[in-house]
Amino acid sequence: MSDERAAPGGDVISAQCPFCDWSARQHVETEDAARRWAPFLAGALDMHVQMAHAETFQTFRIETVAGVPAIRCLLCNRVSELAGDVENRYCGRCHLFLDSIAMARRMIAEGGTTHDCGEWRTWLGRCALCDKPLAP
Ligand SMILES: [Zn+2]
Ligand SMILES: [Zn+2]
Ligand SMILES: [Zn+2]
Repeated sequence: MSDERAAPGGDVISAQCPFCDWSARQHVETEDAARRWAPFLAGALDMHVQMAHAETFQTFRIETVAGVPAIRCLLCNRVSELAGDVENRYCGRCHLFLDSIAMARRMIAEGGTTHDCGEWRTWLGRCALCDKPLAP
């Protein structure tokens, strides 16, 4: 018995995108090859998510207003030049930390954790995570 034990006909390993049908696949002959390929598939998946689903996780943009860095909230379109807002990725109109939204969205998309829409209310009256309109 050698380490290079091959499954009959080899095997197909894949990395599946949690947000769409996209997947990276590789036919491998041995378990060793599967181990070598895994990081490449993970890298390809990462790249795909960044390219294809970046908007899903983008909640703010850093801009420059009259030479000063400013943060634009993509949930309500407010632009703030307050250093504290820029630094903390905070929207003073939505009263939300925009970084934490991106993280929470990713967690929900990948594994279905639950959330309380009311805690994520944006200025426009929608849930920042699932975009559900909320009662006033
Ligand atoms: Zn995808
Ligand atoms: Zn906002
Ligand atoms: Zn929600």
